[in-house]
Amino acid sequence: MIEQVKQYAKTHRDAHLNALDQFLRIESVSTDPTHQEAMTSAASFVRDYLRGIGFDTARIEETAKHPLVFAEYVKDPALKTVLIYGHYDVQPADPYELWTSEPFEPTVREGRLYARGASDDKGQVFMHLVALEAMMKTTGELPLNVKICIEGEEEIGSENLYQRLREKKDQFDADFAIVSDSGMVAEDQPTILYGLKGFTGLEFTVTGPNNDLHSGLYGGAVRNPLMAMSHLLASMKDTDEIVKVEGFYEDVEPLTEFERQLMQAAPSENYQTTLNIPETVSEKGYSAVEHTMGRPTLEVNGLFGGYQGEGTKTIIPEKATAKLTCRLVPGQDPEKIQQLLVDHIESHTPTGVRVTIKREPLSAKAYKVDPDHPLIVQASQSYEKAFNKTAVFVRMGGSIPVVEWIDDIFKIPVVLLGFGTPSDRLHSPNESFPLKNFDLGIETLIDFYMNV
Ligand SMILES: [Zn+2]
Repeated sequence: MIEQVKQYAKTHRDAHLNALDQFLRIESVSTDPTHQEAMTSAASFVRDYLRGIGFDTARIEETAKHPLVFAEYVKDPALKTVLIYGHYDVQPADPYELWTSEPFEPTVREGRLYARGASDDKGQVFMHLVALEAMMKTTGELPLNVKICIEGEEEIGSENLYQRLREKKDQFDADFAIVSDSGMVAEDQPTILYGLKGFTGLEFTVTGPNNDLHSGLYGGAVRNPLMAMSHLLASMKDTDEIVKVEGFYEDVEPLTEFERQLMQAAPSENYQTTLNIPETVSEKGYSAVEHTMGRPTLEVNGLFGGYQGEGTKTIIPEKATAKLTCRLVPGQDPEKIQQLLVDHIESHTPTGVRVTIKREPLSAKAYKVDPDHPLIVQASQSYEKAFNKTAVFVRMGGSIPVVEWIDDIFKIPVVLLGFGTPSDRLHSPNESFPLKNFDLGIETLIDFYMNV
């Protein structure tokens, strides 16, 4: 039966690409208030498409800003329920002059579909709609219970979705979730993303005298805030890339030998060549790929103070400021880590200066699902069947807030099945998506839904 379902997608490919073309023409730029009407059109497109393929319950739900589309299909309450998440909003398209073809006039060149949203995320959302349609039209039903949530605020922080998920827990609750809003590590390389890092940060200022001072008259009597800042920062991480903040590694879930093998097996960027650096550095005892994927980091993101102009200005500056963020791994609690940073800064501030700390209010916990979880194993098998290549398993240094929220609110695994490629130019001019991945991705999703 699976073969017939896959055949349906092949037979109706032109109609599907035409529908996707219509979807991509809608200028649903969520950050731009002048595009309000387009937001409603894009939501309506998704709702109408869902109704057309048999989701009678598909509806638009208003939020404080942009609407979300929700639909539900209950086959048998005893069966598993999947929550499919995606977003119909896109990033602004400017600068327009850098696009080879118009961002909202989809164009195919050399096997790639060029348009804003082709990869992030309209194209990938639409693949799920096609997979559902193919199963419905071929077999008359779906193999499991399905809930669909396609929001319009992902590119502006998903604030209203977060509220909605918490308030209407029962409505969105499922046995597992699937998100196709990420990519593969290389073109044609099936990639299972099974972990994301968390995040916390702060900004702090070291203040000395009440104004910049003459370094000849006061040097020797006054602590220099820039020097004090340098000592403080140096006390936080050593040259072996080991974080020296007390307790920082206390709750870190250790990398298993199995995971380290998975990470080593994944193709990775040649940093020396692509970034023009003399060599990579990573936490002592871990390779660069292990550290980026599976170990926490502490980075200075900004550092300023003192004279920045041409030539010399002989001063002891009044103050120095640093911005710090940490990427966290499973086990670490963002609030606890932030507190450890505060404690470290306060207890290591040299004498003669004062320190003020501004805590970054945004934070996220890391997310991870076991790479040998049955859902993940099924996803990798479906992926491999379609792409005819062994899947690789990776964790990512970045965060996808909605994944953390689903994990936190519903305590369910999230399958991250992304079909984008490193050449898609997300958020940039000339965004595109390979049509080959459109076809093979739909096959992957059909196979996954019918076997899971
Ligand atoms: Zn996206």
